[in-house]
Amino acid sequence: MPGMTTPCHVWTGACDKDGYGVTSVNRKYVRAHVVGFILENGLPDDGHQVLHHCDNPPCVRGNHLFGGTQLENHQDKARKGRSPVPWAKTHPEQVLRGDAHPSSKLNAEQVQELRRDYIPRKVPLRYFAEKFGVAETTVHWALRGGTWKETVAIHGD
Ligand SMILES: [Zn+2]
Repeated sequence: MPGMTTPCHVWTGACDKDGYGVTSVNRKYVRAHVVGFILENGLPDDGHQVLHHCDNPPCVRGNHLFGGTQLENHQDKARKGRSPVPWAKTHPEQVLRGDAHPSSKLNAEQVQELRRDYIPRKVPLRYFAEKFGVAETTVHWALRGGTWKETVAIHGD
């Protein structure tokens, strides 16, 4: 298994309830291991999560991380003897999928960042949804404009 001959780089900052290191990028909450992965490997493929070879949630070492699907994540954890964390618990924003009005909203700054950084077919909506803690539909709406223009105007820049 790649990466296992090198020691973990364990995040020493804040961790979330699942034990993953958390930090902020441009003042946005983001899981530290995702940043570690992106710095080393670039953005994960569409629909992929950033997973640990070393099964050590606070580890942020790029070569201990790999992109995989939710199913692969479950299989990986099962193989390592860890029961999968319920989807609804780890991905509440996915549960909201299809809901006409997700409760979470993006602020003006997030919308600006989204519109600046979004690259169709390169940077998936899901990446921003997870980064901002909102539903993918919310990200989609923000990209398409609509009510978000009002938010931007109110807050100014
Ligand atoms: Zn590690």
